Amino acid sequence: MAGERILLVEDNPQNRRLAQFLLKSRGYVVYEAATGEEALELATTHRPDLILMDLQLPGLDGFAVTRRLKKNSVTMDIPVIAMTAYAMKGDRERAMEAGCDGYLTKPIDTKEFPLAVGRYLTSAREKGAFDHGAGS
Ligand code: MN
Repeated sequence: MAGERILLVEDNPQNRRLAQFLLKSRGYVVYEAATGEEALELATTHRPDLILMDLQLPGLDGFAVTRRLKKNSVTMDIPVIAMTAYAMKGDRERAMEAGCDGYLTKPIDTKEFPLAVGRYLTSAREKGAFDHGAGS
C-alpha cells in the first residue's frame, strides 16, 4: 500500500540505493540507516510500519539491533525482516531467535523484493487489525 513507511537498514551503499529505489517506486516512504545505532534512533523516532534489517552491519549488527528493538515497548510491535547475503541455514535460525519476523536473501531480486515486502506489510496489517480491533 503506497505511503507505508519502511526503515531500510543496510550499510552497503549499492544495496541500499537499489532497495530504496525499488521501495520508493512502489510508493513507500523510506527511511535509511547505514548503522545499527542509526537504525535504533530512526525506529524509535518514526515507528515505521516495517523494518528491513541487514544482519551484517559493522559495530552493532542486525541481530543485536533486532534484540534491542524487540525489548523496547515503543518498537517491539514493528515487524523486522532480516536481509542477509549468507544463504546459510544457521543465519535464518539466528535471525528468528533474535526476534525477526521474516527473512529475505541477498542479492536483491528486483522483481521478488518489492513483492515480498508487500506481502510482509499485508500480513503485518492483518495481524495489527486482529490484535487491536478493527478501526483502531
Ligand atoms: Mn551489510
